[in-house]
Amino acid sequence: MDTRIGFGWDSHAFKPGVALRIGGLTLEHPEGLAGHSDGDVLLHAVTDALLGAVAAGDIGSFFPPGDARWKDADSAIFLQLALEELSHAGYRIVNVDTTLVLAAPKISPIAGEMRVRVAELLGVELEQVSIKAKTPEGLGLDHVAQCHAVALVERVRDEDDRKRMSAVIETQKQLEDVVDDLLASVHGVPKRRNEAPVYDTEDLT
Ligand SMILES: [Zn+2]
Repeated sequence: MDTRIGFGWDSHAFKPGVALRIGGLTLEHPEGLAGHSDGDVLLHAVTDALLGAVAAGDIGSFFPPGDARWKDADSAIFLQLALEELSHAGYRIVNVDTTLVLAAPKISPIAGEMRVRVAELLGVELEQVSIKAKTPEGLGLDHVAQCHAVALVERVRDEDDRKRMSAVIETQKQLEDVVDDLLASVHGVPKRRNEAPVYDTEDLT
């Protein structure tokens, strides 16, 4: 089989005075999600699902907690890096499915818009992205947002497809430079890719 699957999960606590960013959108809400970056719980879960699908580590192995470069960073950068890793491994997205778990705000009114944005960030068609949301019934987690994500990927065989995938990535000009720098710093280290990555359980991204 030329398909692989990846799973990602993330959680962030709500915090007053912070903009709420979920799925690449800014949502109207009195509190946002605390994090070193913009705290976009959905993009972080999808990033980990994509990295996991090609066994490329996790978000913390690329964006170590405490690195000043990622303070308040747009999480689209993390997603972009995962897409680069996916392309590097010779795979593309078949579909991505997500479930947000949060008490408020209600996601259903903006799920459609969020789906469009996530598909755009991933460079895939709308029908390849699913966004669902539940409330954390009985968990006592009303001040936390969680997201679960799975990604199915398939090996790219056609050279034209690879070029098309690269073209999609190249349209995200504003993210390119920072990702290039990052990839150079990661891949420039000899044998780094062959070593077992040290996973940091402290997720501050
Ligand atoms: Zn996160």
